[in-house]
Amino acid sequence: MKRDYYEILGVSRTATKEEIKRAYRKLARQYHPDINKSPDAEEKFKEINEAYEVLSDDQKRAAYDRFGHAGAQGMGGFGPDIGIDIGDIFAEFFGFGSASRRARRQSPMKGADLRARITIDFEEAIRGTRKKVVIERMELCPECGGTGAAPGSQPVRCSQCGGSGEVRSVRQSIFGQVVMSNTCPACGGEGEVVASPCSRCHGQKRVRVQRTLEVNIPAGIEDGMRIRLSGEGEHGLRGGPPGNLYVDVHVRPHEYFRRDGDDILLDVEINVAQAALGDEIEVPTVDGPATLRIPAGTQTGATFRLRGYGAPNVHNPALRGDQVVRVFVVVPTDLTPEQRRLFEELAKTLGKEVIPQGRKGFFDKLRDALGM
Ligand SMILES: [Zn+2]
Ligand SMILES: [Zn+2]
Repeated sequence: MKRDYYEILGVSRTATKEEIKRAYRKLARQYHPDINKSPDAEEKFKEINEAYEVLSDDQKRAAYDRFGHAGAQGMGGFGPDIGIDIGDIFAEFFGFGSASRRARRQSPMKGADLRARITIDFEEAIRGTRKKVVIERMELCPECGGTGAAPGSQPVRCSQCGGSGEVRSVRQSIFGQVVMSNTCPACGGEGEVVASPCSRCHGQKRVRVQRTLEVNIPAGIEDGMRIRLSGEGEHGLRGGPPGNLYVDVHVRPHEYFRRDGDDILLDVEINVAQAALGDEIEVPTVDGPATLRIPAGTQTGATFRLRGYGAPNVHNPALRGDQVVRVFVVVPTDLTPEQRRLFEELAKTLGKEVIPQGRKGFFDKLRDALGM
């Protein structure tokens, strides 16, 4: 009778991967046959490794949860050897060079990271949004559970390397005999070979799959920022973890607004009278129209802050920037005869004689008069 894997590791059925890993490490250290000299240590150690091999692998764990031990074995089974690389444990606990290190199989390979790009509108960047992104990635083959072997069959230990994944050859060199260690050509370092390959992945263990993922884009994100989706990259091999998906966010430029960190910049035009006399004007903001008071005597290029009308801080949405409004005084170019007369009156009062010399000369002097 096999014991329950969760019971062996002393974790609950809802334990996280991290909890399982911690429990495993603790027990593996405790029962390692080279440390623990009690007669049942080796048996116990095998049991711990078997439980960990299943519970640390999402697919095997799911199969075990549904079908018990038979289910987990159907997902790849266990070779005559224990599935965990003893070398790794020793490397971790004792450093390299331990006398007990066995020949290593190829170590677990982490899945590759992936990149994607999303383009959003300016307003979406301010408010935050959810977007779908379509990616293609290598995933463990669902047909064979990532073993590469046809259903009903299992990978077998490679006869050429005896499961170590490497072959040694002795060569004579000027320094004497040199032992060369190379990746086994028969199994490619896997330590096992697949006699009847899975028809879906052709023994490659992984297949290319298209996935549509939903990306949560936080409010306040800026053009060029990158979002990480942990574990959404390609699946690993030999129990290695999956890579991450990095989504580069591009924000479309807005017709009026620009970003300066958490501040939003807006340029507006006012006329000469508004600049001289002051006014209240309505300006667009990302929260809708807001009133901006222009004080009398406002110069062109002056800036005003609408506090709290900026973008939320992407790291702390409770903080918001300001909208910074930059004012440009626009000098009229098509005066009506009445306006022209009024400007001429005005010119007389500004303490400098103005002799209109056609449009250009007149406006040049007007600019002088207004100190522009
Ligand atoms: Zn081999
Ligand atoms: Zn397959």
